[in-house]
Parts: sequence; C-alpha cells; structure tokens
Amino acid sequence: MITEFDLDHRILMRKPHACGSSEWTVTRTGADVKIKCAGCGRIIMLDRLEFMKKAKKNLTLEERK
Ligand SMILES: [Zn+2]
Repeated sequence: MITEFDLDHRILMRKPHACGSSEWTVTRTGADVKIKCAGCGRIIMLDRLEFMKKAKKNLTLEERK
C-alpha cells in the first residue's frame, strides 16, 4: 500500500502486468486514478483506494529520500 502519490510518479505494483512489467506511471489523479504500464503502454483506471492498496512502492518518492 502507498499513501502518497502524484501525477507522473512511477509506481511499483504488487502484481506484475500481463506484459511482465510491474512499473506504472500515474497519468491522472482524483477519485479515480489512471496509470500507464511502463512495459507495454497500456492505460488502466482504478478507484483511488483500490490503486493505493494494489501499489507496493512509490519509486519517485523513494528516489527523493
Ligand atoms: Zn504492461
């Protein structure tokens, strides 16, 4: 689970996508969150809480620490 994220942040998800990549980029935030797969470019939409639960790590914020 992650608690902080913003537009253009790179997010590591718990489960890998069908293409094998686990990294996604946030392309829209709000009540629903859109993320784009770094491996295949597929864009999916999740509700905010579902997204936060399915996410494992915010790579962008980790790198700033
Ligand atoms: Zn993919």
